[in-house]
Amino acid sequence: MVDLLAPVSMGLSRTPLVRLEALSPPGVDIFAKLEWVLPTGSIKDRIAVAMLEKARLEGLLSPETRLLEPSSGNTGIALARLAMMWNIPFTVVMAEGASQERVEILKTFGTEIVYSPGDEGSNGAVRVAGEMAASGDYLMLNQYENLANVEAHYRGTGREIVEDLDHVDAFVAGLGTGGTLMGAGTAIRESFPQAQVVAAEPPMGELITGLRSIDAGYIPPIFDPDRIDRRILVRLAPTIEHTRTLLSVEGLFAGPSCGAALAVALRIAREMRSGTIVTIFPDAGWKYLSTGIYTGSIQEAVKGATNQILW
Ligand code: PMP
Repeated sequence: MVDLLAPVSMGLSRTPLVRLEALSPPGVDIFAKLEWVLPTGSIKDRIAVAMLEKARLEGLLSPETRLLEPSSGNTGIALARLAMMWNIPFTVVMAEGASQERVEILKTFGTEIVYSPGDEGSNGAVRVAGEMAASGDYLMLNQYENLANVEAHYRGTGREIVEDLDHVDAFVAGLGTGGTLMGAGTAIRESFPQAQVVAAEPPMGELITGLRSIDAGYIPPIFDPDRIDRRILVRLAPTIEHTRTLLSVEGLFAGPSCGAALAVALRIAREMRSGTIVTIFPDAGWKYLSTGIYTGSIQEAVKGATNQILW
């Protein structure tokens, strides 16, 4: 049964904003928001709660509801936790070849897994989920189109940042659905109108977990490129190098999209003589151990990460 009186916080709490003491260059403060303290270890707990709560308020949840989402990544895992708590059957469509950690986490949370052809990558999962949803039997929340994604970052992530800092010159976040950039970026600009909003984005054809290139053809409906100031491309090799630097220099065991965000934040830091940069670290390293990005040569690590479906 769906508990219609479920408390909306669902285990969410304010996340820490830390200054990167060793990596901030002289005169510049780089702050990172550590989202991995959230219940399933990623920023996506915020949007999963917001999307499901919106669906509940719109009367879309009934005892017959079956949830469906094409994500083996953080959103799938965050939704799986809530579906388990609310006793809603949940099916994730994922491309064959997703890492074993993800499969095990989803199974632990009682999620049904449907596999799409591995050679079609994450787009294949979206296609198969779309076909399944067309039957009308499922509720698909779709983080790429759901404005609750943006709202969660406007009311949560962004507001927490403006409460914690008295000045922001640049806000850097990885571009996935665009929810973080749109929501938190707007909240930050409202308080600090001079702040630049900067997207960290992989070049087309390079796979960095959780991030996408808008040049690859799909622009998420919730993402408006005109509302950001800059897009800075970051490749997989420097992403892995910066992810390792976070561990060795700051002691932060971060996921690869944090390395991408750090690389972009440092580039902006080099362009300014003084100022405050704030960035987002969406998840920690645990889920990526099997990809081999933390050890051995960077070249081997790039090859290993390229062969995996990480989205
Ligand atoms: N990093 C990771 C690890 C993610 O899972 C995501 C979400 N896809 C992002 C960054 C990008 O966040 P957003 O979807 O808000 O653009």
